[in-house]
This record gives sequence, C-alpha cells and structure tokens, in this order.
Amino acid sequence: MATELNIAPLSSWGLRSIRKPIVIAGPCSAETEDQVMSTARGVKELGVEIYRAGIWKPRTRPGSFEGVGTPGLRWLQRVKAETGLLTIIEVANVKHVYEALKAGIDLLWVGARTSVNPFAIQEIADALIGVDIPVLVKNPINPDVELWIGAIERLNKAGIHRIAALHRGFSGVEKSTLRNEPQWQIPIEVRRRLPNLPMFCDPSHIAGRRDLLHDIAQRAVNLDFNGLMVESHCDPDSAWSDAAQQVTPQELGSILRALVLREANSVDSDYQRHLSELREAIDQLDGDLLSILARRMDVVEHIGRIKKENGITVLQAGRWDQIVKRVHQRGTEHGLSQSFVDVIFKAIHEESIDRQQHILDNLT
Ligand code: PEP
Ligand code: MN
Repeated sequence: MATELNIAPLSSWGLRSIRKPIVIAGPCSAETEDQVMSTARGVKELGVEIYRAGIWKPRTRPGSFEGVGTPGLRWLQRVKAETGLLTIIEVANVKHVYEALKAGIDLLWVGARTSVNPFAIQEIADALIGVDIPVLVKNPINPDVELWIGAIERLNKAGIHRIAALHRGFSGVEKSTLRNEPQWQIPIEVRRRLPNLPMFCDPSHIAGRRDLLHDIAQRAVNLDFNGLMVESHCDPDSAWSDAAQQVTPQELGSILRALVLREANSVDSDYQRHLSELREAIDQLDGDLLSILARRMDVVEHIGRIKKENGITVLQAGRWDQIVKRVHQRGTEHGLSQSFVDVIFKAIHEESIDRQQHILDNLT
C-alpha cells in the first residue's frame, strides 16, 4: 500500500544541532529525584540535548518495579529548568499523554509493546490531535514493517508531523546473545518506503548488555541512522530496571567518542565516478542473476510437466537434501556463508515447488 506521509524535517525539532548521531540519553526509569538529577548533569556534560527517563514502565511480569509514575514528572521539570535538557518520556495510554503534556514534557516516545497494538496507537493519536510535539515510534516487538509504518501513519494522520522511527530490535524465538534481534533489514525497508522519516536506534534494548552497546551503535551509524537513544544511569549496577544494559554518563561518553563517523555521501568526482562504475557492474550482475533464475524456473516447470505425465509427487525429499549439501559445499568454496546460501536456496526451492504444484493443479 502506498504511504503518503507529511513528515517535518529534524531541523524543526528545536535542537541546537542535528548532526548525526543525535543522542538521547538517560535512565531506563526515573527512580529518585537524586538519581534523575545526577544522571541528567552527567549526560548534559557530554553535549547531549535530549534526556530520557521512563515514568511508567511496561514490565513483563507484575510485581517488578513499574515506574514512579506522576511524581517523577516534577523531577523532569527540574532537569529542564536546571540543565536546559529537553525531556522525553514513554506514553502508552491517554492518561500518560495528558500528564506528559500537562507537565511540559518536550518529546514523547511510544514503546514496542504499544506500537504493536493499533487500538492503543489510535487512542494515543486521537489524544494528540491539535498538539505539536515530536514523537518517536519504536518498532513493534514483532518484525512487521506494515505494523510499524501503520503506527507512524496513525500518528501522522492525527497531525504529528515531527515524527521519527526508533529501532529497538525484535523479540526472537531463538536464544541469542542479544536481548532483541536487530534484523537491520526491517528499519532499512522502512527507510526505503519513507525516505524522509528520521530513524533512531536504541542499542540498549537491542543489546541487553552494556559491553555490546558500542558495536550496535556503530552499526546504526554505519547505516546512516539519524540518532541514538541510549540508557544511562549514574549508578547502573543498582538500577531498578534494565541494570545490565545501562552505562554511566562517563561510559556513554567513551562509547560515543569511539564511534567512527562517516559521511553519507561525497562530492569528490573520482569517488563518484568509481562508485557509479561499480554500481553499474552490480546492476548488470543483478540482471544476470534474474535471467539465470528465470532459466532455472523454466527447467523446474519442464520437470514439473514430466512428473505430472508420469504420476510422480512434486517433492522428493532426498533430492532436496542433495541440493542443500551440494550448494553448501559450493557456497563455501566461493566464500559464501552457509546461512546466506540457505536463505537464497530455501526461497528458490519454495518458488520451484509452487511452480510444480501449479502445474499439477492445472488440469489442462
Ligand atoms: C524503554 O525504552 O525503557 C522501553 C521500555 O523500551 P521498549 O519499548 O523498547 O521495550
Ligand atoms: Mn529499559
């Protein structure tokens, strides 16, 4: 479905600098006034402009710390008054929206457990009609591009033009070293579909561990994301939520300084010429790949017809096993990873089976 959005540029967000990456930092949760103030002073020293803190926390199990609630909003007002930092909190329902607006919070974000639910997003969008506030929309917990775009669209239709996507990874079924799988192709696809939409990354919730933050942040920067949201706490080990992934403002400073920043483009004419030659080669190879695939499908259909004439099933499990083993071996000889070869050949095999199935179903 075509998506027509009216997205305001980052230059309208009231930030002093929109140099990449824009950094949003602060604790997972506001816990005490001292913790909020002390962390805010720390991140302010790094040149950060936007301060995050969760006031209401979505926790997996009841009985965990669920946020300090409304009293924490006063601490954020104090942060703003004393440090000049802009403040951002998570809103998950209409009450959160009203309280945040009443307290003068500067930006809002919608969490992954909310963007997954169109009813919840629509209620938040309706509550924001007539309000001009920047909103960051985290990806839904499952890797569904349409659902993520849908949430952004609902808010945009309600008049939220200062809007951005915030990538925090996806819950996986398989055990992994990461808390939430990044599946980078999903934010890349969102960007392809909505090229004007600013894209942020939340390495904290992707990593789940502080030692992995740098690599994930670097990855986002390499993919030309506009900004990062990183959880930072004045005393991470004693944090009331997400302790393992939080870093002190000093550690955050080291992570940010270690990022290698690159330009998205260059006007250098040698670079431009060389790049376009190589891109032409890629386009040519993509064309070759497609004609080889089409030829393969012709052969597949031919096989399908002789299987049909001879009353043979579409699938012979042994044959597929032979193909997998052979392509793994040939792939390795060509320096291609097994997982890559698997993805490609599973897709090719699926299409081949569909084609033969179609021939069987077709009575003529
Ligand atoms: C958070 O940012 O603290 C949070 C709860 O994030 P998410 O919605 O990504 O789980
Ligand atoms: Mn958190």
